[in-house]
Amino acid sequence: ATFADLGLHPLLVAHIQSKMGINKPTSIQRAALPIFTSPSSEDINARDVFIQSQTGSGKTMSFLLPIIQDLLPLSTLSYIDRSIGTLAIIIAPTRELAKQISDVLEALLQLKLRPEGEQEDAESSTRYTRWLVSGLLSGGATRAHEKARLRKGIPILVSTPGRLLDHLQNTSSFNVGKCRWLVLDEADRLMELGFEDTIKGIVQGLDGRRRLAFQAIQEGKSLEVGGWDWDRQRRTIL
Ligand code: AMP
Repeated sequence: ATFADLGLHPLLVAHIQSKMGINKPTSIQRAALPIFTSPSSEDINARDVFIQSQTGSGKTMSFLLPIIQDLLPLSTLSYIDRSIGTLAIIIAPTRELAKQISDVLEALLQLKLRPEGEQEDAESSTRYTRWLVSGLLSGGATRAHEKARLRKGIPILVSTPGRLLDHLQNTSSFNVGKCRWLVLDEADRLMELGFEDTIKGIVQGLDGRRRLAFQAIQEGKSLEVGGWDWDRQRRTIL
């Protein structure tokens, strides 16, 4: 299957091919993308997804691409109220991992909408995703600085768990009322590192959102996260 066969938006297919040299989906991407890009993905059974895969298998894009595609209609609006807040949250166990995810996200969000017949790098080409601002919260900046950015609005947020819970509890301008996605990357490591209660607090604060977990395969144990019984969730193991 190609990315187009998996339901990926043609703009995203073209962008990852031409700008990132990515042509062929990996097996985890073949499994994950249809779950999120099919019209029935609003189905409750598709809401919580638990995917195990080996590191280096392309899991980062297997959740970032569906999130961007889901939020893409927003980016075409000529005006969007930034107070819409945060629409997608990705939690990673360490600062380094959060930064890596954020870098891939930034590269994906360089997606441009080229007006018909214009040169590829014409000044006039619009950054198609201009409203899909990403942000990284990982304790590397001061809380005051992060609060100011949250006030302006960060539609797609990558964060370490402690900082995220801190802002959920203490930053009144952090608006998650419309948040549609919560990804726990390396959920097993989040648990090992003692973030269970933190994750529980976050999941409770975002009740009803689509939740996904991506776990590295070597652990192979079942997970109970914030009242979330993984064994009962849809599971894809690669
Ligand atoms: P990850 O498992 O998400 O850390 O990705 C591992 C590496 O694979 C990263 O360098 C990605 O840029 C790269 N990658 C992700 N998807 C693909 C793909 N479909 N084809 C080739 N490389 C990919």
